[in-house]
Amino acid sequence: MRSAVEERWFYPRWKRGVSSDGPDKRPLAEPYTYDQNPENGPEGWSKLDHQWKICNHGKLQSPIDLTRGRVSRVHDEAWKIHHKPAEAVIMSRGHDIMVSWKGDAGKMMIDHTEFKLVQCHWHSPSEHTINRTRYDMELHMVHTSAEGQTAVIAVLYKLGRPNEFLTTLQNEIKTVGKEEKKLGIVDPRTIGFHTDKFYRYVGSLTAPPCTEGVIWTVVKKVNTVSMEQLAALREAVDDGFERNSRPVQDTNGRSVWLYETNV
Ligand SMILES: [Zn+2]
Repeated sequence: MRSAVEERWFYPRWKRGVSSDGPDKRPLAEPYTYDQNPENGPEGWSKLDHQWKICNHGKLQSPIDLTRGRVSRVHDEAWKIHHKPAEAVIMSRGHDIMVSWKGDAGKMMIDHTEFKLVQCHWHSPSEHTINRTRYDMELHMVHTSAEGQTAVIAVLYKLGRPNEFLTTLQNEIKTVGKEEKKLGIVDPRTIGFHTDKFYRYVGSLTAPPCTEGVIWTVVKKVNTVSMEQLAALREAVDDGFERNSRPVQDTNGRSVWLYETNV
């Protein structure tokens, strides 16, 4: 039997129960931290702002551990990506580094809903875990639909060879500030990830306001990032945010689907 949540996902009615809060509408300076303290760390986020209550009281929070993936056959409409190069800027939000596209950077389709690429940012170590393994870094590509729904592609990285996308940004990351800095044309396809195997589930934004109803697509293939690149990202954020990953949340019985096209 599918739960109500799963029904909602299989037969999308994106408007239902979805907040209009977008990840870009957050204030620049936030009092939340990733510290293990009950005041402003992840356990206390809901106490910092009445609009953040769901962070600690929601049932569809992210990230989660992706151990219980069930293999499900991909159908054509499950995921189609049409990203393209567009003007972009880079900035530090304090808690992370973000590349934000100003032009039309393309979209992805999930079932019959279109989500436009808005921005990407990095967390380290990873937020999602696979079989309880936490990787060294996680990239989030945030997309929004015309109705304000969010869908995120997550790519996991372990230490190894340099990541091409970060190589193209290395000078900008070293000099990044709180003001938007123009990058010129940035091709999101340079991010480069496999699309044939991926996990999917319904969760939330992983930082306040922790809005639920986010469609997560976590790429199964783990990519690599060099130690220097990871260090540069950690150096560029505000002090205290070198580790900017939320702990895994309870799945509360949610199903996680593992899509595999070549099985
Ligand atoms: Zn994120």
